[in-house]
Amino acid sequence: MSIKKDDFKNSILKHLKLAGTTLKDATKRELFDAVSKAAMELVMENWRETKETYDSKNVKQAYYLSAEFLMGRAFSNNLVNLTILDEVKETLEDLNININEIEDQEEDAGLGNGGLGRLAACFLDSLATLELPGHGYGIRYKYGMFKQKIENGFQVEYPDRWLDYEDPWEVERRSEAVKVKFGGEVIVVKDADGREHFRRESAEVVTAVPYDMPIIGYGVKNVNTLRLWQAESEDGFDLQAFNDQHYNTAVKKQTQAEDISRVLYPNDSGPSGKELRLRQQYFFVSASLQDIMKKFKAKHGNDFSKLPEYVAIQLNDTHPVVAIPELMRLLLDWEKLEWEVAWPICTKVFSYTNHTILAEALEKWPIDLFKKLLPRIYQIVDEINRRFLLELREKYPTDWQKHQKMAIIGDGMIKMAWLAIVGSHAVNGVAALHTEILKNQELKEWYELYPEKFQNKTNGVTQRRWLLKSNPELSELITKLIGDKWITDLSELKKLEKYADDEKILKEFIKIKHTKKEQLAKYILDTLGIYINPDSLFDVQIKRLHEYKRQLLNILHVIDLYNNLKANPDLDIVPRTFIFGAKAASGYKRAKQIIKLINAVAIKINNDPDIKGKIRVVFVPNYRVSVAEKLFPAANLSEQISTAGKEASGTGNMKFMINGAPTIGTMDGANVEIVEEAGIENNFIFGLTAEEVVALNSTGEYNPWNEYNSVPGLKKVMEQLLDGTFSDDRSIFTEIYNSLMYGADGNRPDQYYVLKDFASYREAQLRVDKAFRDELGWAKKAWLNIANSGKFSSDRTIQQYADEIWDIKKTTV
Ligand SMILES: *Cc1c(COP(=O)(O)O)cnc(C)c1O
Repeated sequence: MSIKKDDFKNSILKHLKLAGTTLKDATKRELFDAVSKAAMELVMENWRETKETYDSKNVKQAYYLSAEFLMGRAFSNNLVNLTILDEVKETLEDLNININEIEDQEEDAGLGNGGLGRLAACFLDSLATLELPGHGYGIRYKYGMFKQKIENGFQVEYPDRWLDYEDPWEVERRSEAVKVKFGGEVIVVKDADGREHFRRESAEVVTAVPYDMPIIGYGVKNVNTLRLWQAESEDGFDLQAFNDQHYNTAVKKQTQAEDISRVLYPNDSGPSGKELRLRQQYFFVSASLQDIMKKFKAKHGNDFSKLPEYVAIQLNDTHPVVAIPELMRLLLDWEKLEWEVAWPICTKVFSYTNHTILAEALEKWPIDLFKKLLPRIYQIVDEINRRFLLELREKYPTDWQKHQKMAIIGDGMIKMAWLAIVGSHAVNGVAALHTEILKNQELKEWYELYPEKFQNKTNGVTQRRWLLKSNPELSELITKLIGDKWITDLSELKKLEKYADDEKILKEFIKIKHTKKEQLAKYILDTLGIYINPDSLFDVQIKRLHEYKRQLLNILHVIDLYNNLKANPDLDIVPRTFIFGAKAASGYKRAKQIIKLINAVAIKINNDPDIKGKIRVVFVPNYRVSVAEKLFPAANLSEQISTAGKEASGTGNMKFMINGAPTIGTMDGANVEIVEEAGIENNFIFGLTAEEVVALNSTGEYNPWNEYNSVPGLKKVMEQLLDGTFSDDRSIFTEIYNSLMYGADGNRPDQYYVLKDFASYREAQLRVDKAFRDELGWAKKAWLNIANSGKFSSDRTIQQYADEIWDIKKTTV
């Protein structure tokens, strides 16, 4: 699309006027609103036309159900996808407005924890850009992922008040609200034919109000929809109680309803087990399915056998899996279908993505809680389980152990992953290694029972946000060399390979990388008051804080390097800046201790004149999408050092790759495929393999004291956790020490093999140090990573979902 600058200018002025202000008086926020609304006017027409086209062409549509959408900011991304960013920028310049300042007015839509939520956001971008009819459904959390501050080295959480200002990029659609019921009693009535009908009495009724965000395809007219539900009480507050001066009683019902969409649970890959969480899940799932059914019926009437021809629903992890019994409820109780008719419809509609093999992340709900909150849904799950067990008994008549292990309801719990597999026609892992681990280990029995359901869909990221928008300088160079087709077909980047030995081009790339490092250095100076040297190697680990991701391995290595420098200040090393960014789940004690350790080490090192500024450590607080956009383009080295077999895929690794940062990493998740594409010689691989980890686990013979006593320098690093080197309070890192050396909370010592991989990691870091001295040689490695990153576009991933799971087709508007 292109705009007439005068028209756009007038539109901005009009929106300022409607807001009761003028160009001269407007605050930056008012300017942000006016410019956004001017752009929204352009979006609206395409949005409506998209709906009409999908409707008139009668196409099958996919719905991505996810409890999380980590969208980040909409403003620049939407202008990029509308292909009007440059024109808008110029228009604003004419009005003496700096677009960067406008952009910074927007809070991130941080409606997700990390990788899983960001994947959902990248998928939406790809769906729209590929002109595929696919939409998102989720929750409009009033408070998204908490705001992290570092106080005295510790993480402190503050509420994320992203909705304090009205969001110009969303549209409330109150007239499409639906009701969701919780609790109450199920009443069974038999009709004259003896058929049973189910009715609910004395249930708590909550209103789900939809808010739509436009998902704008790049350079196409398609505008898909992310529909987020907000919970409200059905009939406001209790005026009677209020009049009787019972204030708390008067608002109780209202508060209880609004609680449902109040706040995102800040647990990444972990359980919450809380009733409110189950309420959230059922709330958005029920609202979404009612919405989908309403649209289907308006178009196709009551022939529900056609539902799978027009509707595909993807379950993003187990969080929305209650959708399976909910659709059964709608088909049985509302539409009066027989079970035998409804069930195959259901399984054809649903498919399920598994995101993790961490045992603690396999969602289960206590029967009592589930039954009380969702009595009718429980009956349906019970029936699904009964029929499934019959199937199992037929197939394995005497294998009682298997029946017990695979039962959807057992040990007093409802196992959501099992329900997902039984109720879906496709089950996928998110990287090749992950899918193999699912098939051969974690879900072995399930793979034997339903081999045809299992698929791999290696994750990807959208190059529109993670390269075009966040690194315009590199984008421009790429486009200059190979044209701009890469923006919608990342495999085009392969054409860059022929410049891998072109000194002139590599020098241009080096200069761009330096510019991005300067920009980041300025941001860090402005926000944290810390100076970092853009000529040093930027070594970056940014992701959720989790023991399996092993930020601890990174910081222990930094301590070792520091010790070496202290012993020998003239040690010849490449100057390095170690950059960390990570939020810890609020209740995850060890993760918070590791954040404290990183900050304590940073203070010690950054203030020690002995080491002559050769290394610095920076913890960037409140890591989120908008900060990620500054960090990935500025990185020289990508830290992907999880214990092999634990990281399902990773997507941060891909964002580094497309911005020209080689990986130091284990053979884990999608790292395996990154190395396959870019060459092991262009990355720095170390450590145990997933198979070796499994073998070590099973023998139980691993003893970290062997590493402690035999790896040079390691003993000293460990002792420093206890001797007050990094904190006057000597007890503060004892628990970290103990978890490594003795095991904690019933776990084996060093269960994530930090000490075991230490020597290997340090050796890989030495290789990095050596390679980085050769500036052009390093640039070539980085360049070859970029040139071979084509596979890691979410466009590729989404095309595979579209072809191999959903069967949806490109639909041009
Ligand atoms: C990409 C991304 C993640 C996922 O990072 P991993 O390294 O794959 O765990 C998490 N948070 C944000 C803000 C991201 O942009």
